[in-house]
Amino acid sequence: MSNRPSFGNLVRWLPLAGIMLAVGCTRTDVLLNPPGQSSGTLPALQAKSIPAPVLSSLKASAPTIATCAPATVYPLTDGTRTAGTVSVSNDATSLYVTYYTPSTYWWVANTQLAVASTSAGIPRDASGAASPWDFPSGAAHEPPIKSVTYTIALSKVGVQAGQTAYLSAMAGVVHPTTESEAGLEGSWEWLVMWGVGNTTTTAKDVIHAYTVASCGGTVTPPPPPPPPATKGVITITFDDGFATTYSNAYPVLRDLGLRGNAAVNPTPINEGWGDYMKPAQVQALWTAGWAVVSHTMDHQDLTTLSAAAMEAEIRDSKAWIEAKGYGPATAFVVPFHSWGARERAMIQKYHTYTRGHTIDEFSPERFATWPVTQPMDINAFEPEYAPYRTAQGRALTMAKVKYAIDNGLYLDLMFHKVPAATLPQFKELMTSIATTYKANVVTWKEIAK
Ligand SMILES: [Zn+2]
Repeated sequence: MSNRPSFGNLVRWLPLAGIMLAVGCTRTDVLLNPPGQSSGTLPALQAKSIPAPVLSSLKASAPTIATCAPATVYPLTDGTRTAGTVSVSNDATSLYVTYYTPSTYWWVANTQLAVASTSAGIPRDASGAASPWDFPSGAAHEPPIKSVTYTIALSKVGVQAGQTAYLSAMAGVVHPTTESEAGLEGSWEWLVMWGVGNTTTTAKDVIHAYTVASCGGTVTPPPPPPPPATKGVITITFDDGFATTYSNAYPVLRDLGLRGNAAVNPTPINEGWGDYMKPAQVQALWTAGWAVVSHTMDHQDLTTLSAAAMEAEIRDSKAWIEAKGYGPATAFVVPFHSWGARERAMIQKYHTYTRGHTIDEFSPERFATWPVTQPMDINAFEPEYAPYRTAQGRALTMAKVKYAIDNGLYLDLMFHKVPAATLPQFKELMTSIATTYKANVVTWKEIAK
C-alpha cells in the first residue's frame, strides 16, 4: 500500500498546459489518441493549450446538495467502458453538476464543463464537435479524485425552472491498465470520457438537454412585499392653506417619508394674511412632492353665492393653481362641505375629483372605492374630532385607516390647522401611519390625474 505510484506524476502527463512532459513516460501516445476515440462514436480530443480555467465553487468531494428534484444521471463513458456518472440537478438558484467515479480503479484527473441556454452556446471546434478545452469551467485534479461538483448559477446561464439548459461534461479519467492492487504499480492510462446522455442509440451526442426542475413549494418563499398601494389608499390633506401646514405638518410628514395635499385658498396667500402660508411656502410643498388642491378663492359658502360669483370662486381658484405651475387642478375640496346640485354641477364643470363629505355623514360610513369609481364623491375622516390629541382618538383614526386599506378603499384624512400644542400627538399619529401604511399613502396627484 505504501508503494503506490504518485498521482502527482500521473497528472503531469495531462496536456492541460500544452506541454508533454516525457519524463521517462512511454504512454504519451495514449494521451493524444485516448482509447475509445478510435471507434468514431465520440468526438476526438484535441490536445492543446488552454487559458486559465474558470472555476466555480469547486468542492473537494461530493457535497450534500439540497436540490428540488432527483438528479438526472448520465453515464461517464468513452462509449466502450463506463467509469462513473455525471449527475445534474438544480435548486431554486443553481445547477449542480457532479462527476463521480465509484469504480475501484478509476479516478478523475481533470474535468471540463460547459453549460449554456442554447446548444449553440457550447464551445465547438472547427468540425462542429464539442471542444472541451474551450469550455468555460474546468480544473485539473491533483491528486486525482473520486468526485467533484460544479455549482453554476441559473441566472448566469440564463435559464429558469421549466426551461432547458444544455451541457457538455468531459472528464479525463485515469486507471491502471491492469485493474488490480498489483496493477497500481504498473502502467496507467489517461483517457477521455464524456457524460453521455443516451447510450441506447448509436448517436452519442455529448451535448445534453437538461430540463431545469421547478422547486415548487420546497423552497422558502421570499418575504411578502410591502402592502401595495393598489389594495387601498389614503391621502392626508390640509385644508385652507394655514401657516401650520408648512411650519408644523410638513416637517413631520417629510421626516417620515410621507407627502400630503394642501387645499388652498389663493386670496389669503396673495394678500399675505398673517395666519396663512406665504407663496414661497406653497411652492416649497409643491417642490417636495405635495399636491396643491383647489378650494375656491375666498372660502365662502358656495350655496350663498350667485351663480356667477360661485363660478368665479371655482374657476379662478383652478386658474390660480395652474398659473403657478401646480396643475393640472383636477381636484376640488368643497368649502364647509356645503354644496347642492347647483354647486356640484359647477364644480364638475372645472374639476373631476371632489371631496365634499366626511364618511360619518352616511350610515353606514361611506368610503370611496379604490381605484376611484365615483370621483365626485371622495369622502374624508377628520382626526381633529376623533380627537387625535388622545390615544383613543389616534386609535380610532388608525382603525379607519386600516379599514380602508384592508378593504381596498380610499380615505382622505383631512386637517385644518395643526397647532403646536398638539404637534407631539400629530407626530405620533403620522408615525403610526408611516410605520405600517407608508406604501399606501398617496397624494391627489396620483389620484386625480
Ligand atoms: Zn376649508
